[in-house]
Amino acid sequence: MQIVRRAGKEGPEGSPTDQRTATFTGTVYGDALLDGTEGAAVTSVFFAPGGRTHWHSHEHGQVLHVLEGRGQVATESDAAQPIGPGDVVWAPPGEVHWHGGGPDSMVMHLAVSLGRTTWLGPVSDADYGGTG
Ligand code: MN
Repeated sequence: MQIVRRAGKEGPEGSPTDQRTATFTGTVYGDALLDGTEGAAVTSVFFAPGGRTHWHSHEHGQVLHVLEGRGQVATESDAAQPIGPGDVVWAPPGEVHWHGGGPDSMVMHLAVSLGRTTWLGPVSDADYGGTG
């Protein structure tokens, strides 16, 4: 068993928040809460309005738990749908999808990502604008 304490990871204030750029569009910040070396990564992610992931899939699936704000999630077959506080999203293994903030709203979610993440291309404005 491993207990990862927020305070004290790298000092009294915890580890620094990373701005995510390589596989994201817009302004996105993430805190790695559990690094995933054994296959389960836990990350707290903040998306500014318009911020979103690239298209991607998770080898063994992913759970998203929306903590605050209003955001969007979509798959290749389902257009963008709104998500809000308390919502839980399950992305099954290999399902290509993206998640992010709303056009005019931030969202913060917890992500539990299982296995490797396969990153694809950026989400176009047309695909992103699904819920306008
Ligand atoms: Mn995902």
